[in-house]
Amino acid sequence: MTENLSVEQCFYNIEENYKRITARIAEAAAKSGRGAGDIRFMAVTKTVQPIFINHALSLGIDLIGENKVQELQSKMEFFKPADVEKHLIGHLQTNKVAKVLPLVTMIQSVDSVKLAQQISKTAEKLGKDMDILLEVNIGDEDSKTGFSADELVDSAAEIASFPFVHIRGLMAIPPICDNSDMARRFFSSAHQLFVDIGSKNIDNIDMSVLSMGMSHDYYEAILEGATMVRVGSSLFGSRRY
Ligand SMILES: *Cc1c(COP(=O)(O)O)cnc(C)c1O
Repeated sequence: MTENLSVEQCFYNIEENYKRITARIAEAAAKSGRGAGDIRFMAVTKTVQPIFINHALSLGIDLIGENKVQELQSKMEFFKPADVEKHLIGHLQTNKVAKVLPLVTMIQSVDSVKLAQQISKTAEKLGKDMDILLEVNIGDEDSKTGFSADELVDSAAEIASFPFVHIRGLMAIPPICDNSDMARRFFSSAHQLFVDIGSKNIDNIDMSVLSMGMSHDYYEAILEGATMVRVGSSLFGSRRY
């Protein structure tokens, strides 16, 4: 939240931002031959205080994403409604799997076979199944986690053999791009992988979610086939750490 704004001003900004984003989502969806209802909106709530998160939820947002297990855990008691759908979107260490599984309905940031295996084992112990997305490092950047495009298909097939995790799609974060054509090329190759893996009809893989697009590029992501966008700073204002 921006400094020195009253709570009321922040609420107002969140409302106006949400209206603007919703309109742009509808526009991009229409351009890609779909409707606004085909695009799931996630509010990314890292560093955002619960009072503002709850205001966003009061506007009809029904999905939030956090990137750190500890932060999610500390906010759990404040969410209204308490059962709002929550996804983990940040890198997960195997030693935190047991902590996060009870808190979320999906882990979008599965970036290794080993992590998926750990999630499956832990899910079995807890008596629940876990939906996951495979994170694709679409620009092959050293600075990012995620599967490279080359290893994705084989890794997906291996993960599909773990009985208590279910692959529901892909999450992709492209490199920083100077222009929208470049961003669109990365999103397009993520979409191609999504389609390719889906067409293999592998048991226990259901490619229904393509999570890509953040504050600065959700429009381009939707044009290239995103089914879910993850928006933080455009909704809540720039983050203060
Ligand atoms: C922070 C974050 C976002 C949202 O970023 P904004 O640019 O603030 O919209 C989306 N996805 C992931 C994985 C993130 O960590």
